[in-house]
Amino acid sequence: MIDMDEFDVAVIGAGVIGLAVADELSQKYGRILLVEKNPSFGQETSSRNSEVIHAGIYFPPDFLKTEFCVRGNTALYDLCRKRNIPHRPIGKMIIATDDEEVARLNTIKENAEKNGVCNLSWLDKKQIRSREPEIRAQEALLSPSTGIIDSHSLMRSFIANAQANGVTAAFRSECTAIRQRASGYEMTINQGEYRFLTNTVVNAAGLHADKIAQMTGIDIDRSGYRLRYCKGSYFWASPAPRLNHLIYPVPPGNMEFLGVHATLDMGGRVRFGPDIEYVDAVDYGVDEGRKDLFLQSVRKYLPGIAGESLLPDTSGIRPKLHGPGEANKDFIIKDEKENGYPGVINLIGIESPGLTSCVPIAKYISAMVAPYLE
Ligand SMILES: Cc1cc2nc3c(=O)[nH]c(=O)nc-3n(C[C@H](O)[C@H](O)[C@H](O)COP(=O)(O)OP(=O)(O)OC[C@H]3O[C@@H](n4cnc5c(N)ncnc54)[C@H](O)[C@@H]3O)c2cc1C
Repeated sequence: MIDMDEFDVAVIGAGVIGLAVADELSQKYGRILLVEKNPSFGQETSSRNSEVIHAGIYFPPDFLKTEFCVRGNTALYDLCRKRNIPHRPIGKMIIATDDEEVARLNTIKENAEKNGVCNLSWLDKKQIRSREPEIRAQEALLSPSTGIIDSHSLMRSFIANAQANGVTAAFRSECTAIRQRASGYEMTINQGEYRFLTNTVVNAAGLHADKIAQMTGIDIDRSGYRLRYCKGSYFWASPAPRLNHLIYPVPPGNMEFLGVHATLDMGGRVRFGPDIEYVDAVDYGVDEGRKDLFLQSVRKYLPGIAGESLLPDTSGIRPKLHGPGEANKDFIIKDEKENGYPGVINLIGIESPGLTSCVPIAKYISAMVAPYLE
């Protein structure tokens, strides 16, 4: 039999989640291999998002999304300060433009408080105008702990730290098969170009995480792991309106998405988005024809925005566990020992607030792999 390299952990995917996991595990364990199909890290969803550090306002208190987002908010600001990662806690306004939206904002505030986010405050028309002269709103909730981050610097910091601690990162390395062995798993890269053995597998493959789960032998339909692609396009504004905060509308009741919001990035650019469009395939092109829908949404709170100032920008694709119009589902993070695959840890449906949640998710995974490695 051919000798194969052996690892303790194979992390699949160098997005923000796989990178945070590799960094966290490298502080305790050796023999970690990170495999990524692209030529570099962070080329998919992790570099195609709003780069917002969320506070944990919207989801139900018993969701992992809530627990990780609330803890992730504090953890990410701490990490940014410790590692000099560019970020700005600029705060966010969720704005109501009529009585019905004010009522929904009340419910949102109550939910936030159940989640432990107790620092939201009401702003009346005058207070809104003094902070944001271009915004039209009846009332608003101010979330002071929402902010923005340079997600590329965050990911660069994770990989630099992981590699300094001995993690091997293999790019242009697509996991194409996983076979259970008497002990651990045999993984195939690029259809047989390389094979290795590993005790545990952390599946952080983002949009393709369901396919990786299927490779191990899991029935992804019975487990409810099959992902749907939900595109979110952005338009940017030139000239940019003068905004000092992130501006969010009141989201739809089923929390399908947060509504077309205005974000600022670390370079001061104002972007609007993401909208919501279920698609069959990964295609990041932005359809200029969607501009009228964007204008309709944005003009509700920013009436002065000129049509010609909106230009197509990037898009990202959410790995959703639910279909159009259905209520939002929670992250799935699971050791598959009950399904007969001990040490295979699947992360499925890691959509927003995955970026905010990356540090506590990484610690959670570290606790999950510990019994196999200690
Ligand atoms: C439009 C949009 C806006 C968002 N805004 C925010 C926000 O403001 N704040 C926030 O907290 N979150 C936000 N999110 C969510 C956040 O971006 C994601 O939760 C996060 O980036 C997910 O990271 P990931 O590492 O799981 O996935 P990814 O970044 O997709 O990484 C997965 C990696 O796995 C690799 N891979 C896949 N298959 C294989 C294979 N077979 N072999 C090897 N490698 C493989 C891929 O190439 C990829 O690099 C947003 C998401 C979207 C789509």
